[in-house]
Amino acid sequence: MSDPYKHAGEAGEYIDSYYSRTLDKKGGFDELDDDISASVCVIGGGMAGVATATSLVEKSDKPVLIEANRIGWGASGRNGSFVSPGYSRGAHSIVKKVGKSHARELFELTNEAMAIINRRIGDHEKELKQNVPGLLNISWFNERNVVEQNVAFLNDVMNVDYEFWPREKIRDYYLSKHYFDGYMKPNGFQLHSLNYTRHSARLAENGGARIFEKSPVTGIVKQTNGWKVSTDKGSVTADRVVVCCSAYIGGLNFRLASATLPVATYILLTEPLGARLQDAIRGPWGVSDNRFSSNYYRTFEDKSLFWGGRVSMFNPTGERLEKIMMDDLLLVYPQLKGIKPQVAWGGFMGYPAHKMPQIGELEPGFWYAQGFGGSGMTPTVAGGEIVADAIVNGDERYKLFKPFGLQYAGKPFGPVVAQAAYWLFQLQDAYKEWRLNN
Ligand SMILES: Cc1cc2nc3c(=O)[nH]c(=O)nc-3n(C[C@H](O)[C@H](O)[C@H](O)COP(=O)(O)OP(=O)(O)OC[C@H]3O[C@@H](n4cnc5c(N)ncnc54)[C@H](O)[C@@H]3O)c2cc1C
Repeated sequence: MSDPYKHAGEAGEYIDSYYSRTLDKKGGFDELDDDISASVCVIGGGMAGVATATSLVEKSDKPVLIEANRIGWGASGRNGSFVSPGYSRGAHSIVKKVGKSHARELFELTNEAMAIINRRIGDHEKELKQNVPGLLNISWFNERNVVEQNVAFLNDVMNVDYEFWPREKIRDYYLSKHYFDGYMKPNGFQLHSLNYTRHSARLAENGGARIFEKSPVTGIVKQTNGWKVSTDKGSVTADRVVVCCSAYIGGLNFRLASATLPVATYILLTEPLGARLQDAIRGPWGVSDNRFSSNYYRTFEDKSLFWGGRVSMFNPTGERLEKIMMDDLLLVYPQLKGIKPQVAWGGFMGYPAHKMPQIGELEPGFWYAQGFGGSGMTPTVAGGEIVADAIVNGDERYKLFKPFGLQYAGKPFGPVVAQAAYWLFQLQDAYKEWRLNN
């Protein structure tokens, strides 16, 4: 799929963003230019593919991983940086679909994935984990009881220890008239997701995996015993393949591509705000709100503000995107009027219609892990772990995702539907705000 968020003339390189501007100096990986073989060939070097390769290595396999562009080039190296348990589909809706005990097993996977991410970060915390721990979710609506009940529900079903924060405490730190009560996820944190993905790929490589970049896979062909994965300059013969290409899959596999919709979303980095930051933001935590069209943001040591949100099928870039994002920011914090942007960028998330990850085996030996959506980082690591466990140990936890499946995501009209749904939900948010807050 063509990517409007690439520099013209720099096909395959990282786009201009906060992440590429703070890229580690540890170098890249080779291109595949040979015919090789391996037990497992993982395709796609985002967090899902890299987590799969790393988990395989931890279980004593030596896979090959092939990335079309650079490791972490897609959503994994452009995102909002918020790491916490759970899925893009809300907890209430998961329970409604599969029942409480099944939902608990699904959430346990992301609790375990949090521990795996922390273990892999190891003593690189200073470079990879940013700011203080804790992510705050703030209600945009005047409904304290609903927030309190939601916290109790999440703590019960997700086995987490979220803390209710009353509006008075929230407003000490975040000076917006739109904010009411909220809750703190104490173990949530902010990750340099691009450098983390590259770091994990190096962990896998050090354990015996072979990692290749700038090597788009052009075909996957079934053979008598296994699969042949081809690129322009080489190939991998493998007993098993794992496809982790999500929103960027293009035409590589029709069934997988039809099941996820590429949904674009955006981030703005402002100039350092100096003393002005205190006029709006006094807390160090990552913040999101509970509107459907929510914003999420964080600050850096240099007092710049990193502001994310929106979905759009129009793929705005450059100054137009900066203005759209700045308008959103000023809606929440009008006192920051006049501040300037540094850079804004976008990326595609892979969204199934049911908003749950798609993890499983398409046919014997052909695995996939995709469709992690907008709260995708922790689930990618859960996905990598359970696919690796299934391949090496015959573990069957991947079947927990079966009730959601690979249903058709609505292409080619999907982006129009997603945009229309976004506008509709924005209207619903505005109506709810008017109804509850006046
Ligand atoms: C702007 C933005 C903000 C976000 N904020 C958050 C957040 O704060 N918290 C959170 O948890 N999630 C967030 N997400 C979502 C999260 O980033 C994703 O769910 C997650 O990174 C998906 O990882 P992935 O590996 O499935 O996909 P990707 O990272 O997109 O990786 C897919 C990879 O496959 C490669 N590929 C595609 N085709 C081929 C081929 N033919 N051959 C080889 N390789 C191929 C691509 O080049 C790409 O690198 C955000 C996403 C975006 C875009």
